[in-house]
Amino acid sequence: MTRRCLQRTGRLAPNRGLLQAPGARAWSPRGWLGALLVGLAALIAPAAAAQVPNSDALWSSFAEPTVGAPQVIGTYTNGCIGGAQSIALEGPGHVVIRPQRNRYWGHPSLIAFVNWLSEQAHREGLGVLMIADLGQPRGGPVTGHASHEMGLDVDIWLQILPSRDTLSPAEVAAPQEVSFVVESSLTVDRAIWTPAHVRLYQLAASYPGVERIFAHPALKQALCADAGVDRAWLNRVRPWYGHTGHMHVRLACPADSPQCRAQAPVPPGDGCGAEVDWWLAEGLHQRRGGGGGAGTPPPLPAACAMVMQP
Ligand SMILES: [Zn+2]
Repeated sequence: MTRRCLQRTGRLAPNRGLLQAPGARAWSPRGWLGALLVGLAALIAPAAAAQVPNSDALWSSFAEPTVGAPQVIGTYTNGCIGGAQSIALEGPGHVVIRPQRNRYWGHPSLIAFVNWLSEQAHREGLGVLMIADLGQPRGGPVTGHASHEMGLDVDIWLQILPSRDTLSPAEVAAPQEVSFVVESSLTVDRAIWTPAHVRLYQLAASYPGVERIFAHPALKQALCADAGVDRAWLNRVRPWYGHTGHMHVRLACPADSPQCRAQAPVPPGDGCGAEVDWWLAEGLHQRRGGGGGAGTPPPLPAACAMVMQP
């Protein structure tokens, strides 16, 4: 992606450099044709100005959300959020890790979900959850993530703490993620995988408004094996690359946000058997081979310009 960006810049720069300074408007009085071109440029200018930059640096620079009613705009991979709320850095059943990143913001429905899941896990004696990235105060692209852009995604680590005091402040700021997948065999690591993990996925996937949960295929396979008779919730746990040490929970578009664009619904069935087998045999290897060339990311939806206001 970076190389492609550089090539594009390299093509444009020499021409522009020879003709005029960047940003300077060339003007020579050539009668009505010149006036027409300037007029057309003025008409086009507002449309060009409406392009909302898709820049990690820009969107991570907002320290606070906008004030006002929550409004989710765009898609999970290309969007923003106004009126976001934050989750408390500590609760009875959770600790926000790496709080210095300021990625603990989201739509109120996401905040409610994280609070509910951690309190429920705590009530059931599962332990204390490590809450990783939600989204930025105003959403937008997040370095290290392909999504998490509109306040409806959250990463929750699979390491469950015995108590809130387990981690030192330094460990809260820079924790080490542990993989639950044995890479050599592409199976779950049964030395650290417990019934509490199955229960945690079940609780999260059963929560109203949860749209899908991403899990490494080996973890999905373990859930398929360990789920028991209640299997309806497995439908929402989707095999995906990565996600070996955390569950990525995605909420559906909230009713208060008509500009939120939903993802295609998950297919029917529990996704066990052929689907997870394909992922383990083919899907993961296809990813390793490259695939999916990323180009210049498109601008964010025009409505995100509102969310950029001071
Ligand atoms: Zn995630």
